[in-house]
Amino acid sequence: MSATRKPGRNFLFVPGPTNIPDRILRAMHIAMEDHRSSDFPKLTLPLYERLKKIFKTKEGQVVIFPSSGTGAWESALTNTLAPGNKVLIARFGQFSHLWGELARRHGLEVIVQDEEWGTGANPDRMEEALSADKNREIKGVLVVHNETATGVTSNVAAVRRALDAAKHPALLYVDGVSSIGSIDFRFDDWGVDVAITGSQKGLMLPAGLGIVCASKKALGAMKDGNLRHCYFDLADQIKANATGYFPYTPALPMLHGLREALDIIDEEGLENVFARHHHLGKGARAAVEAWGLKLCAKEPKWHSDTVTAIMVPAGFNGADVIDIAYRRYNLALGAGLSQVAGKLFRIGHLGDLNELMLLGAIAGAEMAMRDTGIEIELGSGVAAAQAEFRDGMQAKIKQVAAE
Ligand code: PLP
Repeated sequence: MSATRKPGRNFLFVPGPTNIPDRILRAMHIAMEDHRSSDFPKLTLPLYERLKKIFKTKEGQVVIFPSSGTGAWESALTNTLAPGNKVLIARFGQFSHLWGELARRHGLEVIVQDEEWGTGANPDRMEEALSADKNREIKGVLVVHNETATGVTSNVAAVRRALDAAKHPALLYVDGVSSIGSIDFRFDDWGVDVAITGSQKGLMLPAGLGIVCASKKALGAMKDGNLRHCYFDLADQIKANATGYFPYTPALPMLHGLREALDIIDEEGLENVFARHHHLGKGARAAVEAWGLKLCAKEPKWHSDTVTAIMVPAGFNGADVIDIAYRRYNLALGAGLSQVAGKLFRIGHLGDLNELMLLGAIAGAEMAMRDTGIEIELGSGVAAAQAEFRDGMQAKIKQVAAE
């Protein structure tokens, strides 16, 4: 018998890539086809319309790139901003850091508003900076809706209000990589100008699609002299997409998978998907409380329903918990990144999962923590999450009965 074989399913609880439903895997298992055939638009055209519902937009223009989320970050900025333009970004975790770095490396002047990791965007500070920008030099405000590195969700509507209060015309760019399709996201209501996401989280697909949604105002900012780009050109995509085609060879199996993913979301109902993520997030947080550990998120208003980042007690290394969980229990947990490396581990609870799956991850995390020497009571987190899940289920049953 091979000593390295890990029987049973791998418990994939990193906050993306997430579990891919078998239906999606089967939908992607296709023979290649001619992406210039007369039939092809039947697959592609509905995808844009259906994605608009996921972004909650009527007017927004959706574009699908064969890339990961990082490509969508790049497309969002390079198409709509010019060299030397100022952008304001709230930084409170590794992904908000990386997006700001990407902006800087493209030649933008990046004004960073650092917030403590474990908190999120501070609309008051943003309003102050925007009001102080009398010459309207800031052309973009960048916010990561759900900071995957720390398990923090920011209030995008409040950031929009900050822009409005300052009467500032800057475009609002939102990273929804670990929120869109899992946590309520409202492109139109929140006055977002460019939102981006990737395929490997709430959309339950492999990594490989970078999705951009742009407002009319953002499309109006596309002009000669903007930052250099070619592959990630929005105009090329929009032109070809209008008839159902792409400016280059599309990632065919991914598009078939996307269609299936959208069917799955429709069958559950988008609002029910959000409610399920909230319910799962509450269960994960109940477990952490029962362990007597702290979340990285400093206050309930920052709690993320897609990822829970758990601080390990002083003297322990989160990387050991993750390593043991993986090697001994076939459980993949998320690592602490950058500033919080070793200080925490993360449980991703987004995409295609249910209570019992998450209970498995909580049980595995308990065993791995105990193996590392962290003194938590075995079963305490599982019991707390079970209680939370049962309460949630009872409330749902009552609600359905009342309807
Ligand atoms: N933004 C957020 C919030 C993320 O969580 C990630 C990746 O996990 C990215 C951006 C980068 O996306 P990708 O790794 O798909 O390029």
